[in-house]
Amino acid sequence: MKKLLSMLMSAVICASIITGCDINPVFQPDNKETRKLIAFDTVIDITLYDVEDEDVFNVLEYWIDRYENRFSTTIETSEVSLLNNNNGTFQQVSAETFNLINRAVNANEITDGAFDIAVYPIVKAWGFTTGEYKIPENEELRRLLMFTGSRKIQFNPDNLSVRLLTGMQIDLGGIAKGYIASKLYEKAKEKGVKSGLISLGGNVQAIGSKPDGNPWYVGIQHPDYENDYIGVLSITDEAAITSGGYQRFFERDGKRYHHIIDPSTGAPSESDILSATVITKDGTMGDALSTAFYVMGSEKAKEFLANNPQFKAVILTKDYKVLVSEELKDKFELGERFFLSDLYYI
Ligand code: ADP
Ligand code: MG
Repeated sequence: MKKLLSMLMSAVICASIITGCDINPVFQPDNKETRKLIAFDTVIDITLYDVEDEDVFNVLEYWIDRYENRFSTTIETSEVSLLNNNNGTFQQVSAETFNLINRAVNANEITDGAFDIAVYPIVKAWGFTTGEYKIPENEELRRLLMFTGSRKIQFNPDNLSVRLLTGMQIDLGGIAKGYIASKLYEKAKEKGVKSGLISLGGNVQAIGSKPDGNPWYVGIQHPDYENDYIGVLSITDEAAITSGGYQRFFERDGKRYHHIIDPSTGAPSESDILSATVITKDGTMGDALSTAFYVMGSEKAKEFLANNPQFKAVILTKDYKVLVSEELKDKFELGERFFLSDLYYI
């Protein structure tokens, strides 16, 4: 495994989770096909093996485009944008958008409010949507905090319509990529794909195992060193999703302000976590949870994991402890910048 790790180290790294699909020196598949595209402000890498039906790539690209046009906050005609600009009235949406917003609200409930898609007005106030960063006045944040709390969103299942209260706006950025990755997984499987990796920024979804039967090896990026790892995970038919403040931030007067907002303060969260990775079959909730853990901090995240064993995690704390779900004991190899004494099973 040490050898594997050093081989992984030499790979080109651009995402926060690094997919190590080229690392087995023995297996040299010529039946691998890749596609790279950009959507949701994110590089999407698709790697599939033994493709029988070439149409699969068109199908996946079609759905990526379609999801972006439904869930994006920056595309004015998206369903989410229509909803955000509907001034407190019911807005009809597609079944998928309806269900995803529903799941996001569920994530808000189970995380005690740490995950909240209604933070969008606050995300905008900090300039994260445009890149024109600024530190909002306390007064402004106090006013915008009144519009948070996604449990206030109303649903009418009879005609698939959703209502945001006046002033409320939502942002699916913390959950949509996990959802899309899991949908692409399903669509690839329907097309007969048995082996592959789909990576959307910090979201990696494994399809089956590697063609040689081994699990996929996925490196979790070290927040301080672009080319280093917290560790390497082995996953099969699962998603691994990472959230961290190092992924998007700006600096003012030597202080860093990142893009994950604590819905209880309206400011970038200041928990004891540097990076949170969730490993699960449920990529949608996994994405929401990785964001939520980052906000909740390690104590609450540990408590959540103890009560919800279908989710596993690797958490790096600010004092550089690596907390790893006990169930991942044989599926996680610690990165070379860490000592075994930094590793804690939770
Ligand atoms: P990324 O999108 O960088 O992979 P995350 O999945 O952690 O990372 O999502 C962060 C995005 O979610 C932010 O850019 C913002 O749009 C939105 N967001 C920020 N804070 C929260 C929060 N507390 N709950 C839900 N969504 C959030
Ligand atoms: Mg997320």
